[in-house]
Amino acid sequence: VTLIESSSSGQAGALIEAVARAEQVTAEAVRAGLVEGTIVIPANRHRTAARPCGIGRGLRVKVNANIGTSGDYADVEAELTKLKAAVEAGADAIMDLSTGGDVAAIRRRLLAACPVPFGSVPVYDAVAQHGPEKGLMRMTADDFLRAFAAHAQDGVDFFVVHAGVTREALRILDRHPRVCGIVSRGGTMLSEWMRYHDRENPLYERFDEVLDIAREHEVTLSLGDGLRPGCLADSFDRAQVYELGVQAELHTRALATGVQSMIEGPGHVPLNQVAAQVELEKAVCRGAPFFVLGPLVTDVAPGYDHITSAIGAAVAAAAGADFLCYVTASEHLALPGAAEVREAVMASRIAAHAGDVARGRPGAADWDRRFAALRARRDWAGQLDLCLDPERARRLRDAHRPSDEGVCSMCGEFCVFKLAERGAEARKAGRDRA
Ligand code: SF4
Repeated sequence: VTLIESSSSGQAGALIEAVARAEQVTAEAVRAGLVEGTIVIPANRHRTAARPCGIGRGLRVKVNANIGTSGDYADVEAELTKLKAAVEAGADAIMDLSTGGDVAAIRRRLLAACPVPFGSVPVYDAVAQHGPEKGLMRMTADDFLRAFAAHAQDGVDFFVVHAGVTREALRILDRHPRVCGIVSRGGTMLSEWMRYHDRENPLYERFDEVLDIAREHEVTLSLGDGLRPGCLADSFDRAQVYELGVQAELHTRALATGVQSMIEGPGHVPLNQVAAQVELEKAVCRGAPFFVLGPLVTDVAPGYDHITSAIGAAVAAAAGADFLCYVTASEHLALPGAAEVREAVMASRIAAHAGDVARGRPGAADWDRRFAALRARRDWAGQLDLCLDPERARRLRDAHRPSDEGVCSMCGEFCVFKLAERGAEARKAGRDRA
């Protein structure tokens, strides 16, 4: 029995209760969301260590951090350090995108060390094991499916299924060429395989088998957007919109078989199109949880893509996106290190919180209100405890300490709050004298 099936029979088990408590919503709201397909709780049945995490309608916007090796840097210790940095910075979920070294062994090490839901991309693993060029073309459809079974058995809580890159989607893409083509790694691997073998996407053709694996192990599907726009000029093109329709169809099929799924979204999107991207997904996919990568609102700022993506993510979250995949400053340039990982989690958390405030999520604006009261009182200890990133805030305050600890060294004695307090005191003293 899957979580959706037990929820359908009216049960709200321990997992649902835990999510409801953490979110301060009713267990009934979480249970109903699972049944309707508007909430997921990624939790592989073999893995009980991860903290319960609900994603979807009415819940706090969550943040995912991607880590993983590459062919050039295949050091599992470095990835463990990044995992720790991401979790300490407040990431709600981790995804392993490893393609270098012994990918299976790396996944198992990371999984064992991960206290939050853990996602993976079995297609990368399958291709990495065979070699990216000749190996990819020698692969069979069974090889792809086997990777999904292996990841499910290992205990991953959610995995990416790039089943939306169908032959029809590729025909549309060919008729309407893009500036950047296909920028999803999984989407590119599958499309190259499909073109070489002149075959349908094996994950689409054999989606029922993917569902069987997911059912057996209670793995949540992250229905990948292999055709997400990779630059502003490609946003909302016909191939992207077509794929969204396929993702919607797959979400419906998953729900009907008791398998949880969420929809992955773009990508590179002009700021004025971000809200429309979310609204379209919510309408076409009947409120399915939306997991967005960024979106990055400009193409021209490599080195700052944690910022370009957080801008898009804030707008997306305000419009209804449920799960934000961070983008690091190293994106498009290099494999990130732990410092970039930490910074990117913080940037995404800011976006997620801004979205929660904009959506009126209960309690979200209270955090800001309580913090603002501390700021107005010049309560530095309180501010440094309550802020989003106490470590960074402390470091910056300590780097240029004020001569008067009651202000900060930005304005010193001209601190607006202090001036106002002095003014109030002077007026009171004047009144007392009169
Ligand atoms: S000194 Fe200036 S910047 Fe610092 S808290 Fe006061 S008003 Fe704000």
